[in-house]
Amino acid sequence: MARDRSPQCKQCRREGEKLFLKGERCLTDKCGVDRRAYPPGEHGRGRRRKQSEYLAQLREKQKARRYYGVLEGQFHNYYELAARQSGITGENLLCLLESRLDNVVYRLGFGASRRQARQLIRHGHFTVNGRRVNIPSCRLKTEDVVAAILDSEGLKAVIEDATDLTASVPAWLQADHDNMVGKVLRPPARADIDIPIQESLIVELYSK
Ligand code: SF4
Repeated sequence: MARDRSPQCKQCRREGEKLFLKGERCLTDKCGVDRRAYPPGEHGRGRRRKQSEYLAQLREKQKARRYYGVLEGQFHNYYELAARQSGITGENLLCLLESRLDNVVYRLGFGASRRQARQLIRHGHFTVNGRRVNIPSCRLKTEDVVAAILDSEGLKAVIEDATDLTASVPAWLQADHDNMVGKVLRPPARADIDIPIQESLIVELYSK
């Protein structure tokens, strides 16, 4: 299964802002953006970029892609699906991304980052409605129940370690951290999504 293996801190530095891809480390002074506040690469430091409308649209798309850890082709498929749905395409796009299983596991606080949640899912540590699912992109709908499989002490320790009990669970989800179970109460709305993305720029980019 294809996935983005590029170093996460470089992705943040490329976007020039913290994307919080590494969980707790992002809140420490080891953060790559705090330590090296310039783009990666040989010519990163001191290089002045010409601002353009296209560049702003491109960067917004890349930022959204990186937040959710989605590859280019997959992201474009999400856009096409969003455009076919009724309503505002940009909002549909974010809601589709938000409904991915890896994002839901992360939002429930069962993973410190989306990448960690994705890894736990790939290793078969979660069920959806009682069935083991190892596809991070699986799209969840209202009433779906996500549960961690705690069938060995080792796994329990891994998942408990990854679980962030302080994470604030969005209103469209319900989490039971004692039993490691979560439920989708309703589809996510744009107001529930706290990532700083201007989705209209992404739509403008793809509409060209
Ligand atoms: Fe981005 Fe986190 Fe790395 Fe900071 S520590 S650069 S926020 S991934």
